Amino acid sequence: MEFELSPCVRALATEARRVGATTAASLPIREDSWLVGNDREFSAELARRGWIGMTWPTEFGGGGYSAMERFVVIEALISAGAPVAATWFADRQIGPTLLQFGTDEQRERWLPGIIAGTDMWCIGMSEPDAGSDVAAIRTTAVQQAHGRDADWIINGQKVWTSGAMDADWMYLVCRTDPDAPAHRGLSEFIVDMNSPGITVHPIKDMTGNEHFCEVILEEVRVPNSNLCGEPNESFRQIMRQMEHERGGIDRLVSNRALYLEAREAYRTLENNYRQRLLRQRFARAETMYFICRQMVLREVAGQSPQGWSSLTKTLATEFEIEVAGLCGSVLGAETMLQNRTSRNICYAPGYTIMGGTTQILRNIIGERVLGLGR
Ligand SMILES: Cc1cc2nc3c(=O)[nH]c(=O)nc-3n(C[C@H](O)[C@H](O)[C@H](O)COP(=O)(O)OP(=O)(O)OC[C@H]3O[C@@H](n4cnc5c(N)ncnc54)[C@H](O)[C@@H]3O)c2cc1C
Repeated sequence: MEFELSPCVRALATEARRVGATTAASLPIREDSWLVGNDREFSAELARRGWIGMTWPTEFGGGGYSAMERFVVIEALISAGAPVAATWFADRQIGPTLLQFGTDEQRERWLPGIIAGTDMWCIGMSEPDAGSDVAAIRTTAVQQAHGRDADWIINGQKVWTSGAMDADWMYLVCRTDPDAPAHRGLSEFIVDMNSPGITVHPIKDMTGNEHFCEVILEEVRVPNSNLCGEPNESFRQIMRQMEHERGGIDRLVSNRALYLEAREAYRTLENNYRQRLLRQRFARAETMYFICRQMVLREVAGQSPQGWSSLTKTLATEFEIEVAGLCGSVLGAETMLQNRTSRNICYAPGYTIMGGTTQILRNIIGERVLGLGR
């Protein structure tokens, strides 16, 4: 175990911090920039620097960097609030999925656009009656009757689809075998968002932001070559994809920029009873941050036991809610005004909902990690 970063990795982190700080400086909102900070110009900048697909094999156009090198870049960018959302899902999840489950043709078809930062992806999993319970998905994909390579026709409705209004591609989970048990019979498709039959309605959240959407799919035709992985085996694939989704540093640093500002503001407070109480909370916050970061690093090193990303995400995102409250306490009564701090207090519960709710993750920890039974 070596905790010290090599000079080369430290230099990369310094450069990423500089880029992140410069880019985010003029943004009105820097919180949750991996989900709401959608800026295609910045995507081009990330691509130019080779900061998308950093760890993917060079034969597919990836950077061939180590997981630690990617970690320091991502940590620096998201902590600063740099607008990485237009490339984030593809970098974190879709690329690794194509590398793991896709065909060579699919990798050749879609990885270049991701690495170039030109293609934005969204993830169509949740439905009005299928959020925590993915197996309840009802959007159907039916293959046309003329042979194994025939097109699929998709009908259904997705909801909470982040970035769908701007995305070029959707990674979509559909029911392909209605007679199979609920956990079987799901398949994954890559869908061109410009296909006829797709309607996107942005949904306004309580902070006024419209980053996630309802997506209606009516008779959407998708070629068989866009089926990713094993037909009817999506549930197994989703479980692997969730490991990419849940245990990363994005789950810890969504409101880090605001926290660091609050920590600076704290230094200017009068030395009184309130300040001493806040000091206790800052000490706890620093300890929690250190613990959560160590858990993420274990994921990065590939040394986490199966299912531990649920622990990492639960602890880190509950901590992010605590951070939102702490920032509010530093600001005091001003928090009641409409500003970044109050917005973050309203938004923060979402950290523990997206990507699997805390309650569901605790079920997973109890059942699968600790073996406590169902
Ligand atoms: C900001 C944000 C962005 C999102 N982006 C996307 C996206 O891009 N793509 C996408 O597909 N989805 C996205 N989602 C949806 C997200 O994955 C779902 O909201 C989440 O999985 C919960 O599903 P649900 O909202 O249907 O709640 P439900 O599943 O209806 O749950 C409601 C409540 O009941 C609890 N509950 C449910 N079942 C159990 C159980 N068995 N045991 C204990 N408690 C239970 C839950 O914890 C929750 O508190 C996003 C959500 C948010 C908030």
